[in-house]
Amino acid sequence: EDDHEILEGFEDDAQPDLHDFIPPVVAVVGRPNVGKSTLVNRIIGRRQAVVEDVPGVTRDRVFYEAEWNGQPFTVADTGGWEYGVKGLAAKVADQAERAVEIADAVLFVVDATVGITATDEAIVAMLRRSNKPVVLVANKVDGQSQEADAAALWGLGFGYPHPVSGLHGRGTADLLDVLIDTLPDEAANSEALVARGPRRVALVGRPNVGKSSLLNSLAGNARAVVDDTAGTTRDPVDELVELDGKVWEFVDTAGIRRRQHMASGSDYYASLRTRAALERAEVAVVLLEASQRLSEQDVRIIQMVLEAGRALVLAFNKWDLVDDDRRHDLEREIDLDLQHVAWAPRINISAKTGWHKNRLVPALETSLASWETRIPTGKLNSFIGELVAAHPHPVRGGKQPRILFATQSSTRPPKFILFTTGFLDPGYRRFIINRLRQYFGFEGSPIEITMRVRE
Ligand code: GDP
Ligand code: GDP
Repeated sequence: EDDHEILEGFEDDAQPDLHDFIPPVVAVVGRPNVGKSTLVNRIIGRRQAVVEDVPGVTRDRVFYEAEWNGQPFTVADTGGWEYGVKGLAAKVADQAERAVEIADAVLFVVDATVGITATDEAIVAMLRRSNKPVVLVANKVDGQSQEADAAALWGLGFGYPHPVSGLHGRGTADLLDVLIDTLPDEAANSEALVARGPRRVALVGRPNVGKSSLLNSLAGNARAVVDDTAGTTRDPVDELVELDGKVWEFVDTAGIRRRQHMASGSDYYASLRTRAALERAEVAVVLLEASQRLSEQDVRIIQMVLEAGRALVLAFNKWDLVDDDRRHDLEREIDLDLQHVAWAPRINISAKTGWHKNRLVPALETSLASWETRIPTGKLNSFIGELVAAHPHPVRGGKQPRILFATQSSTRPPKFILFTTGFLDPGYRRFIINRLRQYFGFEGSPIEITMRVRE
């Protein structure tokens, strides 16, 4: 294993600060030759590309750091994504869509001297579907005489066509003022990361694994928080429980407390209830019966958590019944059946005796923190850059796919998009996921990577 070689180059602060500011992304879209690259050059001035120029890795600069009035943002230039597709309206729109997908706002560039073309209209349709804020740029308005051309672009339906000359700089300051206004600011950006109300937890697991016992144990010992709305006799579907001085919301507990015995199809209803609980939860505690062999049903329930994209904690219950022999077998079963969730925190508990139940909250907090982690774009790309430089993708049929840029497109759970010059082997994708986990952690959270292949 040569892992250390790669990791040595990085600082030790593997857990990124949740309050790191992520510059918003602006996608510059438009058909070829309207002046996108010229405008991008004007916006970024002499600033550095986000992607370091690691030889053979990230030559094609399509993402740039920019700033206006003290507000940093990242510019995604889609110009480079259009090789060989000139004249094909649908394809141009398709290429632009890739950038729009990850953008917070869009600069839609139209050549005012040419007017509206079929390709522009294809882009309009795509932009409408995207629901992203669009600032319309009427480019090549080099002087007063082209102002009337700009006005004709009202017809696109994106409001005021900002008259600009990317080439000479005319009107670009006003354009950037408007653009900055449409971007999410730092406060709004970190707002989502501030805890709002109690965290929502689902207790899931097959029948008789001990869900109700655990809930009783948690709610019984800690002070149950009473909903004292006068005279209400509602069914509490969710239970608020104070643990370690913090209130947690256990969702869909009615089904756990009031066992509905169904003669037939109970498996089906149990799985529906699990699904509903996961839908409403942020983190799932999957209870497993440590004293019995892991079952297919256990694995299925874990799969449901992954599919729902929720944070995960594995709780091995009934530990009071586990002897040395069983512990040994269980370890083997975990290696065999739960290897794909080796990243989830595991706690051994006894709901019946209350043993280790204090381990639950730290595990929940670890998983939730990972679930909400955002890796700043620059940090992510220097990580990918070093990784790929040390371990390039194998050459396939004379070609070597390269990774141009990576961005985290969302949190809860973390999702990443890799922009590449070709399809990455499944093995190489797994390698990247493993290294992402090794370096950034994500303990307790599923993560997802998708590829955007530049043709
Ligand atoms: P892209 O394909 O959309 O990236 O377009 P480019 O930035 O490569 O520009 C295409 C052509 O239009 C080049 O010849 C530019 O010099 C020219 N151009 C770009 N912006 C302007 C402008 O504001 N005014 C004029 N007159 N020409 C421009
Ligand atoms: P649920 O169907 O998942 O809600 O499971 P219950 O909480 O109703 O528990 C099913 C049975 O397992 C009950 O008889 C519990 O007393 C028992 N049980 C639950 N937790 C433990 C535990 O930690 N140790 C032991 N020995 N029994 C437990």
